Amino acid sequence: MKNYFSKSKDEIFKEFQVTEDGLTTAEAQERIKKYGKNQLNEDEKVSNLVVFLSQFKDFLVIILIIASIISAVSGNIESTIVILVVIIINAILGTIQHIKAEESIKSLKNLSSPKTKVLRDGEKRELSSEEIVPGDIIFIEAGDLVPVDGRVIDSFSLLVNESSLTGESEGIEKKSDVIMADNLALGDQKNMIFSGSLVSYGRGVVLVTSTGMNTELGKIAKLLKDTKEKTTPLQVSLDNFGKKLSIGIIVLCGLIFMINLFHGVNVLDSLMFAVALAVAAIPEALSSIVTIVLAIGTQKLSKENAIIKNLKSVEALGCVGVICSDKTGTLTQNKMTVKKVYVNGRVLDENGLDSKRETEDLILKESILCNDATNEVGDPTEIALINLAEKYQFSYKELKQKYPRISEIPFDSDRKLMSTLHNIDGKIIMFTKGALDSLLPRTKSIMHGNEIREINAKDIKEIENINTMFAETGLRVLTYAYKILDSEKEIGLEDETGYIFIGLIGMIDPPRLESKEAVEKCIMAGIKPVMITGDHKVTARTIAKEIGIYRDGDNVLEGIDVEKMSDEELREKVAQTSVYARVSPEHKIRIVTAWQSLGKICAMTGDGVNDAPALKRADIGIAMGITGTEVSKDAASMILADDNFSTIVKAITTGRNIYANIKNSIRFLLSGNTAAILAVIYASFAGLPVIFAPVHLLFINLLTDSLPAIAIGMEPSQGEVLKDKPRDPKEPILTKSLSMRILGEGFIIATCVIIGFYFGFGSMKDALKGSTMAFAVLCLARLFHGFNCRGNSSIFGLGLMSNPFSLIAFGIGFVLLNGVLMLTSLHSIFEVASLGTNDLILIYVLAFIPTLIIQVLKYIKYGR
Ligand code: ATP
Repeated sequence: MKNYFSKSKDEIFKEFQVTEDGLTTAEAQERIKKYGKNQLNEDEKVSNLVVFLSQFKDFLVIILIIASIISAVSGNIESTIVILVVIIINAILGTIQHIKAEESIKSLKNLSSPKTKVLRDGEKRELSSEEIVPGDIIFIEAGDLVPVDGRVIDSFSLLVNESSLTGESEGIEKKSDVIMADNLALGDQKNMIFSGSLVSYGRGVVLVTSTGMNTELGKIAKLLKDTKEKTTPLQVSLDNFGKKLSIGIIVLCGLIFMINLFHGVNVLDSLMFAVALAVAAIPEALSSIVTIVLAIGTQKLSKENAIIKNLKSVEALGCVGVICSDKTGTLTQNKMTVKKVYVNGRVLDENGLDSKRETEDLILKESILCNDATNEVGDPTEIALINLAEKYQFSYKELKQKYPRISEIPFDSDRKLMSTLHNIDGKIIMFTKGALDSLLPRTKSIMHGNEIREINAKDIKEIENINTMFAETGLRVLTYAYKILDSEKEIGLEDETGYIFIGLIGMIDPPRLESKEAVEKCIMAGIKPVMITGDHKVTARTIAKEIGIYRDGDNVLEGIDVEKMSDEELREKVAQTSVYARVSPEHKIRIVTAWQSLGKICAMTGDGVNDAPALKRADIGIAMGITGTEVSKDAASMILADDNFSTIVKAITTGRNIYANIKNSIRFLLSGNTAAILAVIYASFAGLPVIFAPVHLLFINLLTDSLPAIAIGMEPSQGEVLKDKPRDPKEPILTKSLSMRILGEGFIIATCVIIGFYFGFGSMKDALKGSTMAFAVLCLARLFHGFNCRGNSSIFGLGLMSNPFSLIAFGIGFVLLNGVLMLTSLHSIFEVASLGTNDLILIYVLAFIPTLIIQVLKYIKYGR
């Protein structure tokens, strides 16, 4: 390892051949070719061939292949070929499904890839962290995940947590000073930062020394196992269910094998039939269809600006019963404009200041100097302050140059203050701005015109009244104060006291237009919306009332109240509390926990570095795509690309819809399989000839198990999902009513299949024609049944054209089935008899009857 820590800034710039302007784009491109992208190598990709071959590892498929080969040897070569072809096509479909699902999971990963601010061609740019190369100069700040290893060349109260690398959970202060040593443990390299650590405070400028697999994290990455679960709870429970079902079906098929033997069918044919029935009846596609529907759903969600990081969360989305949302930027527009200023004992409009007065001049100066934004980039609260000052011809560029920052204590949402130190024409001034409740108790004097005097109870009362008045109109209030120090120094938290009060600034941040409607939808859907904000109680309540979150009689709690309560007390309060104000991140964890202990599935938003624990604790942690820190995005399970509350509601709607669609796919698969089994059982017990040939069963399996089931999974949301209460996460997917429905629908279809068999069998006892009719009716009835399974409403309610995929799936199945029935050259391969027009019409009618009955029942039960 190179000792970058013992090199001076110049040496290191020289070593990496970079100037103060950063790398040029061309040079960076050269370096990316040389060093590769800044990413940790992912697990080796499984080749498509392996995926394809793994489709055959199913025990039953192997038996089927063996049986069909034996049957070919004994002379029945045609049906063997068909069976093999069908199995191969099935495997190809399975492979495609697998690849598609993997691809969409990968593209989700790309969507949530982290960004880094980097200096290129002399300009500060935000790039995907993958594009960072050695020699780049990057900017890190509180809330960032460090994407590379690098040498700190400038730092401002920079505190970094390296626990993922060293196990040390205390933050480590990083400075740019050279360390003279030959060898140092990672934890002691205080002028180096390492990939995978997180910036918990302050900011810094870093020269990148290594990227990707060359970083310290990269070196141990091979040792780290990705513990992220790939299967979702639903998949696990479906797999368990599938296993039990398979055992049941295999036992049943064993029984049918014996019965066939008893009826004098030869061993090989009986075996083939029993195995083909098992293959057709076991819904082996279940788990992969769930993955596909979830994956397609997450892609749809990402188009709606909700980026889901793992499939598991989509399921949980449908169960969400509480949404705890930040106010600023999520429920409101985060477009701040200063509207009122309180100074010299008077309330002024934003245009009514007089910069010739000392107090007002100081307010405008503080607006620019105690501020990290420019008039375009930065925190909207701070941009609004710069815009205010610029109205009075204060140029932020000039002022920042003239009175540079000597020292600073950055803003954090626990302290709710920010301080900076400047030398203003010989006076060493410490500016502090922040929340009134944090700043007023630290104030000892007040500035009034040219006079500075001790602050008294009357002043305090007046200031508090003005603050409430501003807040009642929904204004967000900032307090301004300053103090004079004896000399330039590094300021610390202990200096944040003994202030002179200057004034209050009130800014509006209008609610987002869509917030109100989204809140209404939440309430309709049985979901409780809750506002959790760092802002003032009255401001929060006013905005909450405006958008419908707060209703008369609701509780409003402050962080301080939460602090005083025991977990028990908090649990009793949460249900009635719709607004939490002046909340710190640690209160958020308690609020989530309280809701969870009431059995609710809780979604919680967060953007700051300290929000990560609460985001992890919530069932659905939601980070902000635009304003959120990388740490919060890392901890979250969902990222809002547009920071918008209404997107959460959209995501929940889609989540519920996806779950409903999965349920419908399952209903489709199982009811169709039930029909096949019931028909076979009936035929066996009634002593009829074999009702389906093995190839029939496999053909039906091929036509109906994939396309129509996926088409049902793509059903667009009908909005009806919002009328229900949130789903109980413990509720099994196969509820009693769903099971009854599956059995009932299976029974109706089986009845029509058996009738079809008898028509074909007729007085001539034509077994081939009988089984042809039975096969055709079952196949077509299942294809029709696809339309029944699209939702609860009748087809008129759902609209025949509203899900084109189901039409396409039906069309393909219909054409293939009719091809098999009508093309005489295929007859011997598929073991079907030639049929007349009347037979075909009869098949269509019989196959349509179950759908007719089911649609009429739906119409009666659900209306349109
Ligand atoms: P939410 O949690 O809904 O996003 P918020 O953004 O209002 O709420 P914080 O950013 O934690 O919450 O702000 C809390 C308080 O801190 C504000 O009411 C304001 O008084 C003060 N404040 C906010 N931004 C700054 C800043 N840049 N400098 C100084 N004080 C600030």
